[in-house]
Amino acid sequence: MEKLARQQVQKLTPYLSARRIGGSGDVWLNANESPFDNTYQLNLSGLNRYPSCQPEGMLSAYAAYAGVQPEQVLTTRGADEGIELIIRAFCEPNEDAILYCPPTYGMYAISAETIGVARKVVPLTSDWQLDLPAIEANLDGVKVVFVCSPNNPTGNLVAREDIVALLELTKDRAIVVMDEAYIDFCPQASTVDLLEQYEHLAILRTLSKAFALAGLRCGYTLANAELIQVLLKVIAPYPVPYPVSEIAQQALSESGLARMKYQALEINTNRAYLQAGLSAIPGVTVFDGWGNYLLVEFPDGDALFQAAWDNGMILRNSPIENCVRISAGNREECEKTLAFIRRFYQ
Ligand SMILES: *Cc1c(COP(=O)(O)O)cnc(C)c1O
Repeated sequence: MEKLARQQVQKLTPYLSARRIGGSGDVWLNANESPFDNTYQLNLSGLNRYPSCQPEGMLSAYAAYAGVQPEQVLTTRGADEGIELIIRAFCEPNEDAILYCPPTYGMYAISAETIGVARKVVPLTSDWQLDLPAIEANLDGVKVVFVCSPNNPTGNLVAREDIVALLELTKDRAIVVMDEAYIDFCPQASTVDLLEQYEHLAILRTLSKAFALAGLRCGYTLANAELIQVLLKVIAPYPVPYPVSEIAQQALSESGLARMKYQALEINTNRAYLQAGLSAIPGVTVFDGWGNYLLVEFPDGDALFQAAWDNGMILRNSPIENCVRISAGNREECEKTLAFIRRFYQ
């Protein structure tokens, strides 16, 4: 069967998501999920009919939250679908390229590969910022540049002046995609205000992280109305199931937003608790993080990861040597994990 698949697909290995890696235990700090399991009301009728491609209420609610117009908003099956739509809409297979800056989120590369679009890789600098001269030197054939801030898995913010410089560099050449999956934990760092000035900017958002709805599969792309119209040409005709639209609108209601902000504050507090505790352990380095997770460097990251795994604490190993990514869960999960790591290094 494999031989019948496109050559490009035969070569692919699927994204190793936290969920696919598995594990067993009672502390799950590997997928940057929210510890809060909020409840929603479903009041469904009319399931015999197809839904609207882009339910108006879902767009206007997010537009109001993000401070943009509804025609600047596209809703997708998670931010991951936004990544794919942008590549499909702007990159010619076997001709154009995307550019991204590792260590960063893995799906830019995977989506490009699946579609048959080349990848140009310009690593972040040693302090995980954009290497602008190297990006400029590699822009030939590049139609989309992905920048993740707060960056997954490093947790840092990308300097705003560098983002502006990148936008200037790519004018009339390429789309710049800001992946703001974690921006609700540090809303002051958003680049949404730059949309007005730069028509080649697209911003990815999601309800999976601070909104505690990873299981809903609901994301948003923000851009100028013209760019959104291009994406509407390649999106599936009915991408939003009725229940998704109902729940998203409750999450984005006044009370839903208040709850999200309160919970994001609590998660930020737990992250600070985890950072303070881990930093006090000799030999352990905690990098400042602005999302709901921390990148932590251990004397032997693999051993720590494995020991935690064996004890039912599932963390995320990272491509950075000796570094493990730890999500900020609820206080109990953070206490348990901190206590375990303290004991491990005693
Ligand atoms: C989680 C995550 C996404 C994808 O989120 P979904 O909306 O669940 O598809 C996108 N980008 C980054 C950096 C993420 O960490």
